[in-house]
This record gives sequence, C-alpha cells and structure tokens, in this order.
Amino acid sequence: MDQAAGLAIDMTVTVQHIRAARGRIAGKVEQTPCVVSHSLSERTGHDVHLKLEHHQTTGAFKLRGASNAIAALRPEEKSRGVVAASTGNHGRALAHAAKLEGMRAVICMSKLVPGNKLDAIRRLGADVRIVGNSQDDAQHEVERLMAEEGLIMLPPFDHPAIVAGQGTLGLEIMEQVPDAACVLVPISGGGLAAGVAAAVKGVSPSTRVIGISMARGAAMKASLDAGRPVMVEELPTLADSLGGGIGLDNRLTFAMCRNLLDEVILLSEEEIAAGIRHAYGQEREIVEGAGAVGIGALLAGKVTMSGPTVLILSGKNIDMDLHRRVVCGEASAKERAA
Ligand SMILES: *Cc1c(COP(=O)(O)O)cnc(C)c1O
Repeated sequence: MDQAAGLAIDMTVTVQHIRAARGRIAGKVEQTPCVVSHSLSERTGHDVHLKLEHHQTTGAFKLRGASNAIAALRPEEKSRGVVAASTGNHGRALAHAAKLEGMRAVICMSKLVPGNKLDAIRRLGADVRIVGNSQDDAQHEVERLMAEEGLIMLPPFDHPAIVAGQGTLGLEIMEQVPDAACVLVPISGGGLAAGVAAAVKGVSPSTRVIGISMARGAAMKASLDAGRPVMVEELPTLADSLGGGIGLDNRLTFAMCRNLLDEVILLSEEEIAAGIRHAYGQEREIVEGAGAVGIGALLAGKVTMSGPTVLILSGKNIDMDLHRRVVCGEASAKERAA
C-alpha cells in the first residue's frame, strides 16, 4: 500500500517529515489562530490557549493530512483517483483536496455518519458510498474499489503522509506558544495525536501531550491499555468524529501514540456537552463534540496542569440543530447520541 501511494515504507514520522509536509501544503491550508481563553485561564490559574483549528478550510484539521498525502502522489496515481472510508471530516478533506487537483475521490462511510457531513462531501463533488454499520464495513468497500477500479486508498489516520500533515498543527502550536507545558489533543485513530506529539516533542521534549477521548468506545485507550490494537464496540456519541477503531493491523499510529503520549483521558457524554456549551457561551465558538473534549477535560478537572496549556479545537462540523439543543441543555443523552 505504501508503494502504491508513492511513499517509502517508514514506520515512524519525525519532526523532519513534518517540516517537509508543512512546505508541501503551504498555501493549501490555513495557519489557524491560537488565542488565550480568559475564562479557562481564570478558572484554572494557568494560561490556557485555544488553537482554533475548527476555522480550518472544510471545518477540521483533516485537510492538513489529506493535502499532504495527495501532494505526495505521483502523476500516474493522481490520474487513478483516491478512495477512503471516513466518519466525515477526512472524507470532506479528501474531497476538497482532490477537487483542487482535479482528481476523482470516492468516499465510503457507515450509516452512523450524520447527514450534514454526508451532504457536505457530496457538495464537494465526491462520489459517496454508504455501506454497513461500522467503519470496518466501509473499509471492505474501499478494498473492493482498490482491487476492482485501481483507486489509491488514503486512510484517515494510519499513513505516514497523513500523520505528517496533521503534525503541522504541532509545529504551528510551538511557534504560537513556545512555552507550552502541555498540549491537549482529541484522539480517535491517533493520526492527529501521533503527528502533533512528534512535532511538539521534536521541538520541546519536556512539553506533555495528552490525548482526550470519549468514554463510549475509545479504541486507542483500550488498545494502549491492552498493549496491542484491540476492537471496541462502536457506540453513538456526541463526539462522533472520535468513533471507529484503530485497525487490528495498525502499523503506525498505535506505536507512535504508545511512545509519545504522556496520558489519555476519557470523558463522559455530559462532560463533552459541557465543553460544547462552554465553547459557545464563553468563547463564542461553535465546535463539534470531538473538538470540545479539551475544554471538557479542563472543566471536569481531569487534567493536572503545570503551566501554559494549549487545547486543539479540532473541528466545527456539528449538526446545528443538535448544537442548539446541547447549548440549551435540552438534548437528552439519547438524543445527543442520535
Ligand atoms: C478525525 C478527528 C479527530 C481525531 O483524529 P484522529 O487522527 O483519528 O485521532 C478529532 N477531531 C475531529 C474534529 C476529527 O475530525
């Protein structure tokens, strides 16, 4: 697969790879602002900075990895087109990046993906296939399209060019907050956390990097605890972008997260809802559940702080009716997860 994607087999991503990625995607992604949160700084007694990555084009950081992976393809591969399974934001990013290159993109997803995310991908001109009830079912369709139509798979996280692209966020953070003691990163498959941790620790080895996930179906946490990639039941959650497994044959992000992350913290659905509500009410920012977990973790008192702390607000692609109900405190646990 790596050869097919035009990439050397290289089972870790370093700050050098991330610097190269940054050059490759310059002009294709935004450098997002990093601002002080007065309310969270006051509340915690430490400087809290918000990396506003939900303002990224396509509404999430995934455009960084997708743009880097597409830029690294050979012309012959570009002419075949790309395919991926996605819970939404990766598909959207890939569709956007492929369109800029005039390439074909096919996005496969499960029935759990919210309708707003699906429509956005269709509008970007990608071919959307809905298959089965899990990320794994969608992945089978990807494999069929690779075999039968010669499409190039660009997975959402477990790929060196994707990890390196996401890592560019870590380089920006260390330029914007050079004295960061701790960076809080939402984690699902671990592409973002692996890339950000490699960049942050490559520049500042003593800065702590903490992954934050939802308690409902946290595949990376379960895998780190087990010492190997394991399956978890996929459950509906307010942080829907954090759903899905890490792949039993995970090649890159599991080892990187095991080696580089200082800790992984899990949140209840109510703690995630509190993060969304705080982002809106205090920071005037609309963030999706996955993007609000850093705020949720601070509000829940689950992070031991030792100095300036940076939270990555990773995405904004939430259904606005759900957002309204969460902000008003109307959404029941069942509704929130629907
Ligand atoms: C994909 C995604 C994540 C998790 O990224 P991984 O690389 O899978 O760990 C977090 N937040 C948002 C908004 C996402 O789209």
